Amino acid sequence: MTLPLKLKYIAALLALVFALSLASCGAQSPVEREFFCMDTLCVLKVYGNSGAADGCEALLTELSRAIDPYSDGAASVFNKTGESDSPDLAGLYALSDEIRKKTDGAFSPALGSVIKLWEAARDTGVLPTGNELENALGAANGRVFSENGILKKENAGTLLDFGAVGKGYAADRAAEYLKENGVASALVSFTSTVAAIGTKPGNEKWRVAVRSPDGKGNAGYIDLEDGQFLSVSGDYERKYSIGGVDYCHILDPETGHPVKNGVRSVVVIGGSGAETDALSTAVFVMGVEKGSEYCEKNGITAIIMTDEGMTFCGGAEKTFVKP
Ligand code: ADP
Ligand code: MG
Repeated sequence: MTLPLKLKYIAALLALVFALSLASCGAQSPVEREFFCMDTLCVLKVYGNSGAADGCEALLTELSRAIDPYSDGAASVFNKTGESDSPDLAGLYALSDEIRKKTDGAFSPALGSVIKLWEAARDTGVLPTGNELENALGAANGRVFSENGILKKENAGTLLDFGAVGKGYAADRAAEYLKENGVASALVSFTSTVAAIGTKPGNEKWRVAVRSPDGKGNAGYIDLEDGQFLSVSGDYERKYSIGGVDYCHILDPETGHPVKNGVRSVVVIGGSGAETDALSTAVFVMGVEKGSEYCEKNGITAIIMTDEGMTFCGGAEKTFVKP
């Protein structure tokens, strides 16, 4: 059948509208990617642009290598040789050191020497000696500085470890990448840090479950808005026991000991993943009293959980949904 030109044009137009409506139906189910990254499982849920999901996975895999102290990337090279020319590493260190200052040292990106001691204790069941701890703390307090674009350290024993900020930093970079690549709706999860981009299709906010520290289901839910990040630091994450005493993976940079102050977990919500990640660790170290005071004073939205209950700071109760 041959159609007059005008009809042909309308038929083509209808085909196009049909294709577009199919595309928008297709956009209702997200492109999902799951891969190991930043020492945890990363899940990307991207609506409408599968190419962006692939690009984001590649970016995160590369970043993870750069900041993992145990791979062959920039952080590992810096720890071994004492120098790095990686702008990524220098940028992350500078940002982390700012947070160290702002939290009065409760968060520190140079705790690697102390972390290593406690990881060895966890594996061998033998606690570090006072002398070992003192040496490790000395190294952790060594100066790290930039000179002509090269990151350097004064004490060869100083080791960078971005375990408490890397996932948040990666979430920032992923959110930025997805937005730049035209994604209007996505969720990026590194288990303990989540980034929300846009809303879910249907204009719903991204609802994130917050685990109860006693392991019995969820303490509640938080509805995240576009551009918001949520991080959790919990003692249940990587707990171990030596001689019948429980230890957690979060350390007090002042004493070098695992934190034991009654805090079970801290949730922080904010506009930067690096900040929410590092702050959830820092507030955990500060404890309920000092931590809640710090959050109120600095406008940080947080929930501090103990066995006794929850302390809401900076208006966190407004975003909290009970189960
Ligand atoms: P998770 O890894 O479960 O998200 P955190 O974000 O709280 O938990 O980070 C904990 C990790 O950060 C530890 O495993 C360790 O590598 C490192 N770390 C522990 N205590 C501190 C601290 N006070 N400051 C900076 N890094 C820390
Ligand atoms: Mg953290």
